[in-house]
Amino acid sequence: MPLAVRSVESFAEAARLLAAEEGARLLAGGTLLMRAVNEGDVRITVIVRCTDPGRELVRREGERVRIGAGVTLSRLARAPEAAFLAPVVRAVGGPAIRNMATVGGNLFAHSPYGDLGTAFLALDARVTLAEGGTGRELALEDFYRRRDHRPPPVVTAVSVLRPRDPAAFRFRKFSRVRPKGASVVAVAAHLPAFGGRLEGVRIALGAMGPTPLRARAAEAALEGRSLGTETAGAAAAAVLDGLRPSSDAIASEWYRRELAPVVMRRLLLAEEPRR
Ligand SMILES: Cc1cc2nc3c(=O)[nH]c(=O)nc-3n(C[C@H](O)[C@H](O)[C@H](O)COP(=O)(O)OP(=O)(O)OC[C@H]3O[C@@H](n4cnc5c(N)ncnc54)[C@H](O)[C@@H]3O)c2cc1C
Repeated sequence: MPLAVRSVESFAEAARLLAAEEGARLLAGGTLLMRAVNEGDVRITVIVRCTDPGRELVRREGERVRIGAGVTLSRLARAPEAAFLAPVVRAVGGPAIRNMATVGGNLFAHSPYGDLGTAFLALDARVTLAEGGTGRELALEDFYRRRDHRPPPVVTAVSVLRPRDPAAFRFRKFSRVRPKGASVVAVAAHLPAFGGRLEGVRIALGAMGPTPLRARAAEAALEGRSLGTETAGAAAAAVLDGLRPSSDAIASEWYRRELAPVVMRRLLLAEEPRR
């Protein structure tokens, strides 16, 4: 099957091509896409290469940081505007993957990948799509509901909350191969506190469903309370509410269910795992 390569200068043009050609896929870092091509995925007939100048921007915008979809994970780890995300980025793959993989591509990486999306969900991320004249912004959870539809949405950028207190944002990933294996469970939490009470808690779980998911019952167990052993225990006990993690090559559903409350409690109490 011949494979065509098209180069375009804007995300809007890329979106038009993807809508017109069933087999067209946007090329970002290629860490997943080119693997699929090399493995002989014949559904892919056109590779769309996009040089939109906005794809590599990282910019503070008030309380938020806007990150272009084409920013590589290595570049993100070095960006002072997004220093709070550096520990998350360092938990993704090895240096070779981080040098190629992009922020936009990580939003399309299927579970158990997608660690960045887990962190973004805890930071109230909004995703900009190349739709309409100026683009369309939607909440990350809404993006995930649409992600696998045809034609695929084209992501131009992601905007995330910048934690006022960097210590209020926490990320923990448990993997069998350290430091760079796929997540058995990943947990991200934004825990802003005012006068000793938590306000606006957001907790996201990775590898516990088909996409990163909010742990709303755990959030409710913390909201308006102070963080301590008792509240952390209540949040850990609630973390699985409404979730049905799957079994895959990395871990079974049973193992993930056992592990998620432990990772949640350790993250809240800032405990280091026993080695
Ligand atoms: C060895 C290995 C280890 C890994 N380890 C981890 C890990 O520990 N944690 C983790 O989270 N991930 C991990 N990954 C997954 C990795 O994060 C993804 O491969 C990467 O983020 C995908 O980004 P990319 O730029 O290479 O996307 P590509 O491979 O170029 O694209 C992937 C898919 O996303 C689509 N796409 C990309 N950008 C856009 C866009 N802007 N708009 C619309 N569609 C788009 C493409 O069309 C394609 O369908 C690993 C991958 C490998 C190969």
